[in-house]
Amino acid sequence: MAVNKEAYKELHHFLSEKNTILIAVSKTKPVSDILELYELGQRDFGENYVQEITEKQPLLPQDIRWHFIGHLQTNKVKYIAPFVYMIHGIDSLKLLKEVNKQALKLDRIIPVLLQVHIAKEETKFGLDENELKEILQHAGELKNIAVKGLMGMASFTSNEAEVRTEFSYLNSLYHKINTDLTNHDSPLTTLSMGMSGDYKMAIAEGSNMVRIGSLLFGTRS
Ligand SMILES: *Cc1c(COP(=O)(O)O)cnc(C)c1O
Repeated sequence: MAVNKEAYKELHHFLSEKNTILIAVSKTKPVSDILELYELGQRDFGENYVQEITEKQPLLPQDIRWHFIGHLQTNKVKYIAPFVYMIHGIDSLKLLKEVNKQALKLDRIIPVLLQVHIAKEETKFGLDENELKEILQHAGELKNIAVKGLMGMASFTSNEAEVRTEFSYLNSLYHKINTDLTNHDSPLTTLSMGMSGDYKMAIAEGSNMVRIGSLLFGTRS
C-alpha cells in the first residue's frame, strides 16, 4: 500500500491555514513509507509501540520529530527517552516521574502531553479531571519534563454530536487550566485531538495538533 501523496498535500494545505500541526501516524508502516512523506517535507511522525519506534528511529533521518502517542509502560520509558520529541500519553503521576527521571539522566527536558479520558469506552486510557489537577500540581517540581498540553481520543462512534461533546469538553479543560495558572506556571500551548475520521471536528472544537494515520498511509491490517 503506497502513501497517499495527494491526500497529504491537501491535508497539509488545510492544516497550515488553520495553524494546526500534523503528526503523521506511521505505526505498522515501513520506513520506506515514512521516507516518502519525509521527502514531501513532513517531519513530525507518531508511533504507538516502543519496540517499533526504537527499531525505526536509527534507520531514518535524524531531524524527524518522533511523537510517542501510544500507551507507555513505566519500565519502557528508558528506551525512547534519548530521542523522543514529545510523549502524548501521560496518564499517571508515576509515569510522569519516570519520564522525568530518565530525562534527568540524559540531561534533557522532555515535552509531554497529559492524556485525558474523554471517550465513553472504558477501555480507553487517560486521566479524569481530578487526576489531571493532581498531576498538574506536582508537574512544577519535576524539572526535566515540560507539560505542553493535553491529548485525548474521542469515542469510536458515528454519533457526531457525541464526538463533538467530547472534544469540546477537552477544549474547555485546556482553557480552564490556562485561566487558572499561577504566576510561575507556563501556559499550555498544545491541544492534541483528532484522527483521520474526526480531525475536522476536532479543529472546529479547538485542536491545534492532529494525529493522522490511515488517511495518509492507508488502512492498517
Ligand atoms: C493510531 C492512532 C492515531 C491515528 O489513527 P487514524 O485513524 O489511522 O488516523 C491517532 N492517535 C492515536 C493515539 C492512535 O493510536
